[in-house]
Amino acid sequence: MTQFKNAMEVYRLLDKSNCKKCFLPTCLAFAGAVFTGHKQLHECPNLSRDLIAQLGGDTLAVAPFDQIINDIMQKLQKEIQSLDLQETARLLGEEFSGGRLTLKVLGKKFSVDANGTIFTEIHVNPWVAVPVYKYILKGAKKEITGDWVPFRELPDGREGASLFAQRCEKPLKKLADITTDLFDDIIHLFSGRQVENYYDSDISIVLTPLPKIPMLICYWRADAEMDSDLKIFFDAAAEENLDADSLNSLSTGFTRMIQKIALRHS
Ligand code: SF4
Repeated sequence: MTQFKNAMEVYRLLDKSNCKKCFLPTCLAFAGAVFTGHKQLHECPNLSRDLIAQLGGDTLAVAPFDQIINDIMQKLQKEIQSLDLQETARLLGEEFSGGRLTLKVLGKKFSVDANGTIFTEIHVNPWVAVPVYKYILKGAKKEITGDWVPFRELPDGREGASLFAQRCEKPLKKLADITTDLFDDIIHLFSGRQVENYYDSDISIVLTPLPKIPMLICYWRADAEMDSDLKIFFDAAAEENLDADSLNSLSTGFTRMIQKIALRHS
């Protein structure tokens, strides 16, 4: 892959249409994100695949599923455009100013404007962005109950439970097994908080991926008799604010963000 000396080298390759199909507000923002490693060239659909291949970029990196999720993003972006954002913000109990609805995603500000364009303090992958769009579109009104349930015990959780374990719980457990300060990092980076140890776990932390979607992560260290384990729990009312597939996607996106951070630190 070509090593760019600065963001302007990337910018020169782009068509400068600021079309936002890469989910960033401008081509310049995209160039900066490629330069810092937060985006890859193939995420601009306007760049020729031949050029990406010449530069050593992985044109095959758009896996079918990622392509599907990008298509979903574009569809949801259009639906956001038909919303009265100010009224939606009022119903959600979130902030609206400067034409943008702003809520907190994993403790960071995440804004959407009337075009459906996202503005965030952190790099958010489509796995996270899709559920955020859906949360806004659904109008999440149900208050948190304070009761925790595993994914499979959510009303529609059974079907996606094994995928959830594969994509979220197992990779996080693996990371927790080898990264001693994983939970400190999660707390620090994503405004998590350590809570009483639920279900006899050794560590329990609560995160807030979306305002009315708290998530409890419990980790049990290995001992002489048992392997380690990690489980994720949701509020019992979570599915009233976000469908099970989106909860799965949100957790997958979060897991991928953590994996990326752990990789950079290793
Ligand atoms: S998709 Fe490509 S052309 Fe469109 S704004 Fe993003 S970088 Fe620019």
